[in-house]
Amino acid sequence: MGFFYLYPKHKVLESFDYRAEGELSPEEDIEKVLRPKKFSDFAGQKKVLENLSVFVEAALKREETLDHVLLHGPPGLGKTTLANIIANELGAGIKITSGPVLDKPGDLAGLLTNLEEGDVLFIDEIHRLNPVVEEYLYSAMEDFMIDIMIDSGPSARTVQISLNPFTLIGATTRSGLLTAPLRARFGINCRLEYYDTEVLSGIITRSAAILNIEIKEDASIEVSRRSRGTPRIANALLRRVRDFAQIKGEGYIDLSIANIALEALNVDQNGLDEMDNKILEVIIDKFRGGPVGLTTIATAVGENAGTIEEVYEPFLIKEGFLMRTPRGRKATDKAFRHLGRNLGFHQGGLFGE
Ligand code: ADP
Repeated sequence: MGFFYLYPKHKVLESFDYRAEGELSPEEDIEKVLRPKKFSDFAGQKKVLENLSVFVEAALKREETLDHVLLHGPPGLGKTTLANIIANELGAGIKITSGPVLDKPGDLAGLLTNLEEGDVLFIDEIHRLNPVVEEYLYSAMEDFMIDIMIDSGPSARTVQISLNPFTLIGATTRSGLLTAPLRARFGINCRLEYYDTEVLSGIITRSAAILNIEIKEDASIEVSRRSRGTPRIANALLRRVRDFAQIKGEGYIDLSIANIALEALNVDQNGLDEMDNKILEVIIDKFRGGPVGLTTIATAVGENAGTIEEVYEPFLIKEGFLMRTPRGRKATDKAFRHLGRNLGFHQGGLFGE
C-alpha cells in the first residue's frame, strides 16, 4: 500500500458548504457531522475561544454586528468550524465561499447584497482573492457600501448601494500573503495553534461516540499522537482505524487494532506526513543537516516556500525536528534519529565542520 496521504496539500476550494448538499462526498458529509456546533463543543484553542466568546457576547449585548474576524493557521485546525460556531452563537445566518471562487466583483456583489442584517460571510483562503475583488471588499467591510455598475456602453454608470451590516470572517493558511489594507480591516485577529495529544484524544473520543464506535483510551492517545496535531487528520485516521476494527478486529478500537491499522496505512510514528519527511530528508541528505535557506529547500522538495514556512515548518519546529537559525534551517538530532541517519554526519564527525 502506498503512503496514506492524510494531509490536505492545498485546501483549494475545499470549503465544502458553498456546494449543494448532494454534491458532498461521503467523507465530506462525515466531516460535517463531526463538526462541533457550539463554543462548548470546540476543544482546545483556549485563549482564542475565551476571547471570541467575549466579543460575541458583547456584540449580542449591544445588539451590534460582530467586528470582522480573521482566522489564520495551518489547514484542518478548525477555522471553518469556528466560523460556523460564531454564526451559530450569534444566532445569525452564514454564507460560505472561498477566495478563488470569487472571480469578479459581480460574484461578490451577489453574495453581499443577499446578506441579511447580522449575517456572517465566511471567505476561506481569503489570501487568494483576486485583487480587484479584494479592493471591492474594502468599502463593503468598512462602510457596508458597494458600487455597482448598471447599464453598459455609453450609458454605463455606477450607483452606490448600502448593504445590511454583516460580519466577514476570513480564513487563511498564509497570513503573510494578506495585503496590509485587507488585514487592517479585521478588528479581530485569531491565530489557531496545533493541538496537543491530550486535546486531540478528547476530539477523537467525541468523534468516535458520534460515529458509534467504541475506542479505548490508549488507542485514542495513539491515534492522536500520529495526527500531526490536527483534528482533521485525527478524524480521518479514526475513520480508517474504524474500518480495520470492523473488518479485521472485534468491532471496537483497542491499541492493537489501532497499531495494525496505522501500520497498514503507513502513518508515520511521529505523525509526520510525506512532505514533512521529504523536507527533513532534503536538509539531512543533501545539505548535511543544514543550515540551508528556505528557498533552496523549497526548490529541492518541489513545494512553494511560503507553504513550507506557514504550513509545514511550524509543526516540525514545534515537535523539535527543525530549527530556524539566522543562517537557515537546521535539522535537529531528533530528525536524524527519526530518519535513522548517522548523527556524526551533522555533528562534524564526517565533514569536520
Ligand atoms: P480548517 O477550516 O482550519 O481547515 P476545519 O474547521 O474544516 O479546519 O476542521 C476540520 C475538521 O476537524 C472538522 O470537520 C472538525 O470536525 C474537526 N475539528 C477542528 N477543530 C476542532 C475542535 N477544536 N474540536 C473538535 N473538532 C474539531
